[in-house]
Amino acid sequence: MELPQLDDLYRDAILDHRRNPRNSDKLDNATIIGDSVNPFCGDEIHLQVDLDADGRVERVGLQSEGCSINQAAGSMLTEAVVGKTLYEIDHLVQTFKLMMQGDSDAETRLSDENDLKSLIGVRNYPVRIKCVLLSWSALEDGVLSYRRSSEAG
Ligand code: ZN
Repeated sequence: MELPQLDDLYRDAILDHRRNPRNSDKLDNATIIGDSVNPFCGDEIHLQVDLDADGRVERVGLQSEGCSINQAAGSMLTEAVVGKTLYEIDHLVQTFKLMMQGDSDAETRLSDENDLKSLIGVRNYPVRIKCVLLSWSALEDGVLSYRRSSEAG
């Protein structure tokens, strides 16, 4: 699928992540695992997260298939989560979703996340917002099942 017409600056960041995906190596025996599929455009996300002793994200692996927006957004997510606690990730996920829904306050709060903000242009293409959010739902699902299993165990 073609990239939508985006502001050049944003387009460059997206193309860069698309061509050079960050943290794309699969992690074996990861603490947190999340998978998401979007049948609409054949997008797939497979996410693994390892936490360090302080509960911060130490390593992340993300493998994606499908459209460019999905792949670029997934790569950007991996850079945004490294070093964060799960609590901070909860906030980031919520803020990022709000930004994609058009919330200008959330946009301001993400001012340090330049790559993530490059996805703002995709808001003009509602059908593609799902492609941006697929990796974020994989992350949310993964964190949720991790919390469930650690409470149970
Ligand atoms: Zn897609």
